[in-house]
Amino acid sequence: MADLVDVVVVGGGIAGVSVAYELSRLNYRVTLLSKGKLSDLESPTNRGFAWINGTSKLLDRDYHRLNAAGLEYYNTLANLFKMEDIGLHLGGALYWSSAASEEHFAFQNGRSEILNSWGYPATKVSRAEMNILEPNVHLTDDAQGLFMSQDRWLDTPLFLSKLKSAASELGCEFRENCPALSFSRSVDGSIGSVATAEGRFTTRILVLAAGLSTSRIVSQIDPTLTRFVPIKAVPGLLVETEPPATKPLIERVLYPNDSGGLHLRPTVEGGVLIGGEDIDQQLAPEIKFPPLEYVENLLARSEIFLPELKQIRLENRYASRICVRSIPNDEMPIVGELPQVPGTYIAVMHSGITFGPLIGKLLAYHIHTGDMPERTRHYSPARFAALTPQPSFPKSGEGDIDS
Ligand SMILES: Cc1cc2nc3c(=O)[nH]c(=O)nc-3n(C[C@H](O)[C@H](O)[C@H](O)COP(=O)(O)OP(=O)(O)OC[C@H]3O[C@@H](n4cnc5c(N)ncnc54)[C@H](O)[C@@H]3O)c2cc1C
Repeated sequence: MADLVDVVVVGGGIAGVSVAYELSRLNYRVTLLSKGKLSDLESPTNRGFAWINGTSKLLDRDYHRLNAAGLEYYNTLANLFKMEDIGLHLGGALYWSSAASEEHFAFQNGRSEILNSWGYPATKVSRAEMNILEPNVHLTDDAQGLFMSQDRWLDTPLFLSKLKSAASELGCEFRENCPALSFSRSVDGSIGSVATAEGRFTTRILVLAAGLSTSRIVSQIDPTLTRFVPIKAVPGLLVETEPPATKPLIERVLYPNDSGGLHLRPTVEGGVLIGGEDIDQQLAPEIKFPPLEYVENLLARSEIFLPELKQIRLENRYASRICVRSIPNDEMPIVGELPQVPGTYIAVMHSGITFGPLIGKLLAYHIHTGDMPERTRHYSPARFAALTPQPSFPKSGEGDIDS
């Protein structure tokens, strides 16, 4: 016999867990289906850089606002729970550039102007002030900094586990290692039930928050509808060091502006996590394993201003990983009801660590009231209506981590 629930959420990443938690708070009986364990270390949610910021989104003001509001929503969650229980690490982000590097310096100043004019604090800091913030970072004499005090980073596995236990207390059922396998539809086009290896769930409402797999799932429901969830797979390389023998080397997110998009942050254990935008742009979409030359490159560039990392590299006390982002083709989140399938909602996004919990809240509100909140109105799947109906998901084995 089928279990009857109010909502089935498919996907145990930050988007799925957040919407399941928020719907549970609104008294819905929710079942969340997760393909793996929530703590799955293959998931982008658990393996990305996890910088919560409104700093890097300068091209579109509404999108910046969504990021900044996503960041602020963590304050609400930190008041509801304890900050340390949700794995929220404050400290801000420090950008810097050499004044001699004119192009980068001008870009940094431009960032400061835009962010401040949008009400997002970005404070210019001198070399001496940077030395106080990050005493282990070696800076050139003419270095000038920009400090975004609101930025922070997340211990995502801890966050998920806290939200899971809070949602479970409200009656949400988490089925881990239990992927959604197929879907049946009612005569009005809505989803009638979801089949899994553990049985069938009858539901009125379905939320698809399955990252890269969302397109594939939508194609199972109706292949002509995949145009509403065009997603690309974009791999990223991260290098993670063990902690140094003494105390942690850095205390916040670091972004040396003239270093090709290099970015670093502390890890929970006191090591350093390193990524590089320039390296990520060179990765082939189907890449599975970190190329050693790129790993060495990230470490060597970081050692220029953090020389103490050299010892860690010489002792081989670091690991690297490839992790795949699911990025909507226009780079904006896809949130809202799937056209032609009443009661089925999509939640797919990049920067999900920054605003996934807020999207969970806004989508729950939308489901509950029928009103789309202003902040997500631009991001409905219906915006892709003009696209040709054709499958847009990666072929099996091509970067689809969930296949
Ligand atoms: C290298 C890298 C760096 C990043 N850095 C940042 C950053 O600094 N800041 C930031 O905000 N974001 C960052 N991101 C992006 C962020 O990690 C993602 O936006 C976020 O994790 C997306 O969460 P999600 O829940 O939407 O999807 P996912 O984390 O992909 O979760 C989807 C889940 O659905 C499950 N699933 C799939 N199919 C099924 C099925 N049939 N049934 C049940 N479950 C299924 C999957 O197993 C998976 O667990 C980064 C990503 C990467 C890869």
